[in-house]
Amino acid sequence: MDTMDKDIERVLFSEEDIRQIVQRMGAQISEDYAGEDKDLVLIAVLRGAVVFMGDLMRAIDVPLAIDFMAVSSYGDKAKSSGIVRIIKDLDVDIKDRDVLIVEDILDSGLTLKYLMKNLSARHPASIEVATFLWKDIEGKQAAINPKYVGTHCPDAFVVGYGLDFAEKYRNLPYVGVLKPEVYS
Ligand code: 5GP
Repeated sequence: MDTMDKDIERVLFSEEDIRQIVQRMGAQISEDYAGEDKDLVLIAVLRGAVVFMGDLMRAIDVPLAIDFMAVSSYGDKAKSSGIVRIIKDLDVDIKDRDVLIVEDILDSGLTLKYLMKNLSARHPASIEVATFLWKDIEGKQAAINPKYVGTHCPDAFVVGYGLDFAEKYRNLPYVGVLKPEVYS
């Protein structure tokens, strides 16, 4: 049988690792957004963040709404330019609401910086970022500072748990490093 596992060099975060990370993040977010005055809206960026979104929203026990955006970056897909085009905009109004952007992986942060600027112009009560992975490699500064970080990720191309290579591997239940022969 042709399985995806054979393309993976090593597993970085197992299903159990992921479960624990998401539970911890959900508990923290639930604590921070508790109270009558909060109006939480989770916004995930398609398509990579959908798996994390599905898990995170169920790990949060305060009322919330969800919505999705789709963006495309100009230029080289492997390197973020920070120039972003919105392909699918929000359906909900975020004015005076507490927006939490849900992201799969933060690298340069340029995509999110653009999004935060765009969403801030709609006057939410607050706006923060929850990223499952953060490639905060030493000496490299991300364009934004995420409030909630699942775990730090080494400087390798990772797939699984929503993250793809050429639209494949999103459905792997763990996060792993691809074998170089797969993409070379
Ligand atoms: P940034 O604007 O932060 O540099 O780019 C973040 C986006 O780049 C992520 O949302 C994701 O789509 C993509 N990305 C960055 N690193 C990886 C990686 O290791 N694997 C995969 N599959 N996508 C990545």
